[in-house]
Amino acid sequence: MIRTQARKIAIANNEKYYYSNVPCKNGHLGKRKTNNGICVICFPKIKKEYYAKNKEKILTRTKELRQINPIPSRISKVINESKRRTRFVKWADQDQIALHYIKAKFMEWFTGEKYQVDHIIPLCGKNVCGLHVENNLQVIPAHINNSKRNHFNEEELNYGTDHSRPKNYGYYENMGRKL
Ligand SMILES: [Zn+2]
Repeated sequence: MIRTQARKIAIANNEKYYYSNVPCKNGHLGKRKTNNGICVICFPKIKKEYYAKNKEKILTRTKELRQINPIPSRISKVINESKRRTRFVKWADQDQIALHYIKAKFMEWFTGEKYQVDHIIPLCGKNVCGLHVENNLQVIPAHINNSKRNHFNEEELNYGTDHSRPKNYGYYENMGRKL
């Protein structure tokens, strides 16, 4: 597949599609998939043909993957959700928790940007699991929250003289105030 200039730009900008002025072999102009450079009109047909040709190969690969990771992602999602639910505790200050959600709504109204309530220590982290309690919550812009996901750097939780809050808490808090 020829890497055209438009495709290179799309790759650099992390865009899913780009537009080509070179027609595909079936004469379609326009939208192409960035990852493989295939025309979007031809893609379903190519995919179907590829599947028909490589059915055995695909099935064995699926089988192999199932052995490596026996839990399909949609099931692991449900398990994850029930694990998250165990992180909700009765003794948490529900009013303080509600305040975080109100603050997120306020920040959205105030800045016009999307804000979310984030768990400083993720509820289902890889190494650590936090609780759904008032001092594990922070209000941060959604794009920061989405890039954070379940990643939690333990070094970030570097308690200073104030033992009640992790270091990064102040960082996001101040960011909220500055706006
Ligand atoms: Zn085409």
